[in-house]
Amino acid sequence: MNEPLEPNRHPCFDEAAKGAFGRAHLPVAPLCNIKCNYCDRRYDCVNESRPGVSSAVLQPHQAQAYMERALQAEPRLSVAGIAGPGDPLANAEATLETILRIKRARPELLLCLATNGLALPAHAATLIKAGLSHLTLTVNAVDPAIGQNIYAWVRDGKVVYRGLAGAELLLARQEEGLALLKDSGVKVKINTIVIPGVNDGHVERVARWAAARGAHLMNLMPLFPNQGTAFGHIPEPPRPLMERLRAVCEIHLPQMRHCTRCRADAVGLLGQDQSPRLAGCLSQCAK
Ligand code: SF4
Ligand code: SF4
Repeated sequence: MNEPLEPNRHPCFDEAAKGAFGRAHLPVAPLCNIKCNYCDRRYDCVNESRPGVSSAVLQPHQAQAYMERALQAEPRLSVAGIAGPGDPLANAEATLETILRIKRARPELLLCLATNGLALPAHAATLIKAGLSHLTLTVNAVDPAIGQNIYAWVRDGKVVYRGLAGAELLLARQEEGLALLKDSGVKVKINTIVIPGVNDGHVERVARWAAARGAHLMNLMPLFPNQGTAFGHIPEPPRPLMERLRAVCEIHLPQMRHCTRCRADAVGLLGQDQSPRLAGCLSQCAK
């Protein structure tokens, strides 16, 4: 049996690893339990601001087979990640089965997922036990008065919350989820979508909040204005603004500056997406 990889072999969490190690996103999670005003599902759950349709959705056994094919094509893959196209924990059964399958078949791989955090408290202990090594939590606001402008609705079981109540619930679950992960050994990255005029003046508070709750890294991602969404009219924040915000947030948390805003089925080294090359494999595995 192969030894598990060092945790610093995650190309997103450790920039030094990005030229040598890659990740495969396994698209097993089509549903979501919230509605972000910038999402039209062409963005995957880590809110990557580049149109990112997954060319297929896989069942867990298909994802395992696809991972093997991807490893044959790109042996430098060190991470199996689940990042949508919806929220992995709104598809908890498929997500957990996929993680357990990959863990059994490929114990040397790091296991990663990205979530909005609504269902994190319900699944944190199971994920830790299953061997999750890295988690990305998207936190766009730590003040529900701001959050209510970002989330159209939040669905908890059969109840749909809107406005302040939805933003309050989401924030409470994110906070609870972080508390459960603290000291677990799982590395936590906070993704924050920078939305000019909505939360750009607030991201330092997000960084301070997350640092105080044990997060390890922060990734400020510029909004990609997507026509047809409620935020389609907001321009993408310019690079100098992003750099200024990263500098301010860095006082509290190390900043990721090498994010390539990947698809929900991205595979390969960062910046060298091989999903087009593997699209045939992906659709074959989905049959
Ligand atoms: Fe879209 Fe992710 Fe937001 Fe869900 S959490 S609405 S999938 S961006
Ligand atoms: Fe890594 Fe950014 Fe791609 Fe997510 S979107 S896998 S954080 S590079």
